[in-house]
Amino acid sequence: MTRVWRRVLDRELPVAVHAEGAWIETADGSRYLDGAGGAIVVNVGHGDGALLEAMRTQAERVQYVHGTMFTTAALETYAEEVADLLPIDQARIYPVSGGSEAVETALKMARAYHLARADDDRSVVLARETSYHGNTLGALDASGKLPLRAPYAPWLGRAVHVPAAYPYRVPMSGKQHADATERAIEEIGASRVAAFIAEPVAGATLGAAVPDDDYWPAVVEVCNRHGVLVIADEVMTGFGRTGRWFGVDHWGVRPDLLTAGKGSTSGYVPFGFAAASGQVFETIASAGGFVHGFTWSHNGLGAAVGSAVIARLRDGLLDRCVVLGERLRKELDAAIGEDPNVGEIRGLGLMIGIELVADRRSKRPFARADHVTERVVAAARDQGLLVYSSTGHVDGTDGDLVMLGPPFCMTDEDVATLAERTAIAVRSTT
Ligand code: PLP
Repeated sequence: MTRVWRRVLDRELPVAVHAEGAWIETADGSRYLDGAGGAIVVNVGHGDGALLEAMRTQAERVQYVHGTMFTTAALETYAEEVADLLPIDQARIYPVSGGSEAVETALKMARAYHLARADDDRSVVLARETSYHGNTLGALDASGKLPLRAPYAPWLGRAVHVPAAYPYRVPMSGKQHADATERAIEEIGASRVAAFIAEPVAGATLGAAVPDDDYWPAVVEVCNRHGVLVIADEVMTGFGRTGRWFGVDHWGVRPDLLTAGKGSTSGYVPFGFAAASGQVFETIASAGGFVHGFTWSHNGLGAAVGSAVIARLRDGLLDRCVVLGERLRKELDAAIGEDPNVGEIRGLGLMIGIELVADRRSKRPFARADHVTERVVAAARDQGLLVYSSTGHVDGTDGDLVMLGPPFCMTDEDVATLAERTAIAVRSTT
């Protein structure tokens, strides 16, 4: 009996006692290869000395001060450093405690921006089907992940969803996506749309689906033309995960707003931020400011770790992500690329998705009752491998996806182990 309301209620959870590099050890002496960095979070790796030192140093200086009363050197330094890396002009960052808060903050920034320009009718959020932006109500409303929305449907319904950028099952060109986005904007009424939010590369909900190269430039052009702010949700793709600093860097587009979380501190401290362009910031600031705030926002500890993460990525880990990503893809392709139940292996950098199907030619998904994803995850766990997963993406019920997103500090041997155990898990259950 436990007093913890655990995330998982149908099985006992092992007790994690130590983590180092790409491995997690449990109280019973087992070792798990962290093939997904938890939920694609631990970019740098576990037990990194530089990150731990940054935490210790900042915790000894200042533990907590309120964002309306103080700033800290750690936060000011971090903002300077990250602003130089962000694909945003004259960026300003608003630090929060995680991805959902970052998304809520960015949505409110978009609304505040339009209000500041006396464009009061702009409130509608445009998002994509089969997307994920968080579990708080505003972020969930933007999310197109049906199984997560279903229980809370009475509280949702303001956001409008356009097709997912998912070439495997949604064969639309960038131009067709842009046209669909424009049609949605016109149907809602261009003067009512506040923002378009999307993941640069789809996260777990679509297993690292990568849009075609003409997608982002075309969609951003339509949004710009209609005065709709573009929010790049980089909570999963940010901080090197796709082999570039940020996902949109692959296509050279510059959003108005951007959200970050997960990899920003590699999971060492709950942290994230919403970033706005200088123009968005100045507009809101000059009209009286931003009505928003959280007790834990503007946290110096998260900022200090964030600076250490940037230093580690600069120090070779970002390059290592590219090299290891290519190697892992090659090994997976060789091992299970032709497996009759592997529909597609996709992704960028060390953000890799494996879509499992009952029939490769027709792309027919397994029936949900077969619990294929759950069996693959369990088979991986039995071999000491942790993977991330998602179900229901095809129609809200069926659809099986497994995701890999390991730490960038993996050794060559870890990569081989990861590919080998993933292949065994996939083969053993399909
Ligand atoms: N946005 C994206 C793209 C995500 O992948 C996630 C989490 O998986 C979130 C937002 C929500 O982040 P958090 O779980 O930190 O609230």
